[in-house]
Order: sequence, then structure tokens, then C-alpha cells
Amino acid sequence: MWEELQAHIGQLEKKAQKRTLVNVESDGCFIRIDGQHLFNFSSNNYLGLAHDERLIQASMEATRKYGVGATASRLVVGNHPLYEQAEAALIHWKGYEAALIVNSGYTANVGILSSLAGRDAVIFSDKWNHASIVDGAILSRAEVKRYRHADLDHLEMLLKKTDKHKRKLIVTDTIFSMDGDVAPLRELVSLKETYGAILVVDEAHASGVYGKNGEGMAHECQVAQHVDVHMGTFSKALGAYGAYVAGKRVFIDYLINTMRPFIFTTALPPSVLGAIYAAIDVVQKESTRRCHLQALSAHFRTRLQQAGFHTGESTTHIVPIIVGENERALAFSARLRERGIVAVAIRPPTVPEGTARIRFSLMATMTKEQVDWALDHICAVGKEMGLIP
Ligand code: PMP
Repeated sequence: MWEELQAHIGQLEKKAQKRTLVNVESDGCFIRIDGQHLFNFSSNNYLGLAHDERLIQASMEATRKYGVGATASRLVVGNHPLYEQAEAALIHWKGYEAALIVNSGYTANVGILSSLAGRDAVIFSDKWNHASIVDGAILSRAEVKRYRHADLDHLEMLLKKTDKHKRKLIVTDTIFSMDGDVAPLRELVSLKETYGAILVVDEAHASGVYGKNGEGMAHECQVAQHVDVHMGTFSKALGAYGAYVAGKRVFIDYLINTMRPFIFTTALPPSVLGAIYAAIDVVQKESTRRCHLQALSAHFRTRLQQAGFHTGESTTHIVPIIVGENERALAFSARLRERGIVAVAIRPPTVPEGTARIRFSLMATMTKEQVDWALDHICAVGKEMGLIP
């Protein structure tokens, strides 16, 4: 059997798809890899809160007070008081009836879909949705209909063909993680209303970054109250770890009673809850971080486009340069690294075959001068490689 595994790895190597782990030490928008100090375009720490002194302090205090581990699942004796506090803050921030903090975005999606949808349900999922949605849909045993990315006609055609008595879930990322484009939320709301479906949105990349107070993209598009299930993470713009689900009280009660990845796992450590609680406060107060990040991202994207790069449909702080073949993406990333910049190559199966890319994500702690410096290097490498004139 081990030979078969070796052969599989060999195949990946041949296709330039083998992955390896590297040690990194991150420090704001810089990162240290193999002793090299590099400018970091690959972090999801969009608002730069992972090293914020207020979050660190809150995390340390929580550990002092409640210990290192939660010692049990939430339904047993792991529900330390910080949960109630953080969930109340979350409800206030997002404006939903109820909210539940869970261990990660991955388990949130797997749990939501496998709880809400059973064998006689149908899940309509955007083809570019995150892997955790794909896995949750499989685990639910529901029928899964994947619609072409953001293609409302295709989705409507699939909805029309579905038995109207079946439970229907439409699931979408609000910002797509590898392309930085935005789901057509208003139109999805209208379709879900016409066809009596439940709309589930994954705000992992939008929470903290979009919306007047960082509530997310559904708020930015003014459709939050029509979204049935709002899910997001604390591991990206909020700088910490963990995730949440928000919606109607009855739905949250149902999850508490049926969501296996919530029931059968140890609660998050107090240190994480302490940081989450502090982050929810900081994110709402400091809208200047959001404004700066959005302006910087627009500047970055415009300059790349003017230089002739293909940045897909990105309109957010996630900006890809799509190069096509895996080897080209790896070479581009390696050359940037030689110039002091980390921007990882994203290859299939994370993105469709033939669309390998460099994924840049910007951070609110970057300055315009730093981004301009990086842009000069990116353009120089693009020219060397014949990607731009
Ligand atoms: N949803 C989306 C859209 C994501 O990009 C990710 C992680 N990159 C997740 C869910 C999973 O979140 P977590 O890392 O907290 O498990």
C-alpha cells in the first residue's frame, strides 16, 4: 500500500502539484521564512489584528482566569462564561436573533449543511464555493446541484426542475476566496424567495472588511435580513480563530441539538474566546482599517490591470494574477520570493485546471509606499516572464 501512496505523490510531483510545509514566523505584514524577512501577500489577517496588543492581552487574561483548555464539549462542561459574552456581542454586531460560536469555519459549514439538509433535501451550491461547503453537502446526503459560478440563469433552471415540496438550500461564499469576486447576493435573495429556498452565506472573507461596521457583504449589499443563515470566521479579518453561525433563534437551538461537529468536539480554549471578544469590539470601532484596506486594494488591482495582468473578476482585497499553467505560477511565486515578497501560487485542485494563479491578499497594516514598492517588483517579474508587455 505504501508504494501506491508513493506513486500518488510522484504523480503530484510530475504535475507540479505536490505540496510541502514550510516553517514561518509572521509579524504583521512581514513574515520570516528560512531566515528571510519577506513582505507577506498571503495572509488572511486582513485587518492586521492577529498581533494587536488588545487581543493578545484579552487572550492572556482569559487563560489566567479560565485555564488553558476548555476541558469538555460545550454541552458538557466546556461552556465557559466567555462564550455567552462573545455570542451576545456577536448578536449585537450582526443584528440577528441568535448566534453560535463553533470551532472553525470548516466545521461550521460541514455542521450547518449536514444538520439542515438530509436525504430528501436539495443543496444548490456555487461551483466555486469553499471546500468545507462541498464536504458539508456530501456529508448531508442531500442531492447536490452545483450551479456554474455566479450564474443565476443556471441556478434558476436547476431550481425550476426541483420538486417544490423538497427542502432547498442555496449556499454561497459572499467573497470567493481564490478570485476575490462577490456573489450576486441581491439576485440570490430574489431567487430564494421565488422558489422557497433557504439562503446560506459564508462570510469568511467579508466579515470585518465589508459593511458599515464590518458586519459582512450581505450587510454591505443591504440584504442581511433576507439571509437565513449567516456564517463567518474569526480566523481571518478578526485575527483570531474559530467561527460562528447567526440566524433565527429556532435555527440556532436546532443546531445546538443536531450539529455533530458542534456536539462532539471540545469547546474552544478560553484564550481564543478572549481574543474573539476583543476583536469583535475593535472591528466595529476601527472603520479606518476597512477604509484603508479597500482603498489600497483598489489601487493595487488598478495598477496590475493597467500593467496588463489578468486579475479575473476581483473587486475586493483578494486579487489574483491568473497565469494558467502550474509551473508558471510556481516560477512567478519563486521570483517574487527572490525579491523579498511572499505571494503563494494556487494550483488545482484548489482552482480549476489551467487557471493556476498567484493570490495576493492585502492587509490594512500595509502602507501605500510598501504596496507601490511591491507593485514595481511584481511588474518587473511579469515582464521578465513575458506575462505583460
Ligand atoms: N469558508 C471559506 C470561504 C474559507 O475560505 C475558509 C478558510 N480558508 C473556511 C470557510 C474555513 O474556515 P476556517 O479556516 O476557520 O476553518
